[in-house]
Parts: sequence; structure tokens; C-alpha cells
Amino acid sequence: MTPVLHAEGLRKTYQSFVALEGLDLSIPEGSIYGLLGPNGAGKTTFLRMVNQIIAPDSGHLRFQGQDMTPAHARKIGYLPEERGLYKKMKVGEQALYLAQLKGMDPKVAKTKLKEWFVRWELQSWWDKKVEELSKGQAQKIQFITTVLHEPKVLIFDEPFSGFDPVNATLIRDEMLRLHREGATILLSTHRMESVEELCSHIALLNHGKKVLDGRVQEIREAHRSNTYRLVFRGEAPTFQVPAGVQVSEVSAHAGSGHQAVTVQAPEPMAGLLMQQLAPQCDPISFEEVLPSMNDIFIQSVQA
Ligand code: ATP
Repeated sequence: MTPVLHAEGLRKTYQSFVALEGLDLSIPEGSIYGLLGPNGAGKTTFLRMVNQIIAPDSGHLRFQGQDMTPAHARKIGYLPEERGLYKKMKVGEQALYLAQLKGMDPKVAKTKLKEWFVRWELQSWWDKKVEELSKGQAQKIQFITTVLHEPKVLIFDEPFSGFDPVNATLIRDEMLRLHREGATILLSTHRMESVEELCSHIALLNHGKKVLDGRVQEIREAHRSNTYRLVFRGEAPTFQVPAGVQVSEVSAHAGSGHQAVTVQAPEPMAGLLMQQLAPQCDPISFEEVLPSMNDIFIQSVQA
């Protein structure tokens, strides 16, 4: 299937500083694609290029198989990292204005906005000035104006920053709903737990270069470290294990009231370990523990 967005050999310099170097990326249709990387890695630079705010020095961007133009960029809903609403304007008025900039019919925009305001219980904000809203409240308005015209491609740069946990969950749920309804989502975030929860694919940038990309589950599998968790009931024996295998201290297994040990092997040996460890205790479960995206991120950027 043709990717929604395809970047080839993107390079961008700011004066003599190379912010992106030979970046190749393919964002599959229907994915929730996480763009990850430490501060300064080049994520926002890439997102600005996709939105045609800045141009690459060299390389190509394709949108649904075509050379990308500003007309394509208008089909994208983009929530930038630096949120910008006009402080003196009233909330409703401004949301309507932004919707019309995206080509929406004023009547349709007003109906849809009212629906959003009712759903999120923001009706009392309609006639307030933006400057009367808190940072998080203004961000909610900006989120609505980003997705209102129901673009099929959505780009969120750090969408959770500045939100309390309740509102972060609200935003997450809306993103999942938009995705279920057919949107492809490109998301830049530093919240690794959101990546594991939301993203089907990721790319990890470091110093302007891609160091890793692909499906999240495949990346986690590829970084497997022969680590297993044995959960058991009752007293902890001194486990007898094959040479080279290490067993951690016993710890409580979260929430279950059972106990657990982590078993670290020098090579894949789930079958053998299960066979040897199960008779030594009253076992509940034995499973492989894949590294988290957080572990993989740290390992990859420090390599
Ligand atoms: P963060 O996670 O901190 O948001 P990022 O991955 O989005 O980082 P970018 O904003 O793309 O990083 O910046 C990449 C590099 O390019 C940084 O070193 C930054 O200082 C530099 N840079 C970005 N914009 C400009 C600019 N307009 N002029 C000069 N340098 C810039």
C-alpha cells in the first residue's frame, strides 16, 4: 500500500548546523506513528517540513504517492508544539475563524464546534477571551480546531504536554477515536508509556538521523534480551538454574499477592527454564519480558 507520507533523503541545515541528515521515513496509512528522539533530534524540523512551513535543503516528501505541495499540507491537521491562539479574541469566534481558514463552511463549522463544546462541556468558554483560559484550557481549544475539519492525516507535536492526567486521557481517547474513524496519526512525544499504548509504528531520531524505525512490537521483539518472569505461589525456594542463568531477588508480583523472580539467561531458553523451574515451586506463570520502548530509546541514543 502507498504510504500516506514518504520522506526520502531529507536534509536541513540552519546556517552551518545540520538538523536533519538523509532522513528516509515511510508512514503507513492507518498507523499511529510515533516520532521519537531526544531534545534537538530534529523531530519538529521534520514536522514543519511536512507542513510546508520550512523547506528541506534537499530530499523529497511525498503525500499519498505524489510530490508534496502546500495543497496537500492543507489536508493535514497539525497541532504544533508551540501553541498559538490570539489572546484578545473570543474563543468561539476564533475557533470559527480558524475553521474557515481550513476551508470549512461557517455554518458547518459552527455546528461542529458546538457539538465539540457540548461533548467536552466547554459551552461557558464560547464567549470568553482566550487570555481568560489557562494554558491547558487553551490547548483543548487548539486541539479541537486542529481536528475539526476531520483531516485524514493528523500531526500532533507533544500533544500531552501541559495537560493534567484527566485531560491527557481525554486527548488520548479522542486520538484513538479519530484513528478508529480512519485517520493516520503522526505523533511526536517524550512520553514513552503513550508510545507503547498508542503507537503501531515508530521512528527514533538522534542528532538529525534515523537510528531505528518499524513496528513497535517487532522492534521490541528484535531487542529481546532473554529475560523472563516466573510468578509463583508460597515460599520462595533457592532456585537451581542452568549455568549462566541469573535469578533476581524475590519480589511481590504487582496486585496479585503472588511472588515473582526475573530470570536472565545468556540465550533464548524459555522451554528449558520452564521445565527446570516449574517443579521447584508452585508456579502461576512464566513469560518472556520484552524491553520497554523507554529501555530501547535509552539504549539506542546512548549507543
Ligand atoms: P525537542 O524534543 O526539544 O522539541 P526536536 O527533536 O523537535 O527537539 P528540532 O526543534 O527539530 O528538535 O531542532 C533540531 C535542531 O535544530 C536543534 O539543535 C535546534 O537547536 C536546531 N534548530 C531548530 N530550529 C532552528 C532555527 N530556526 N535556527 C537554528 N537552529 C534551529
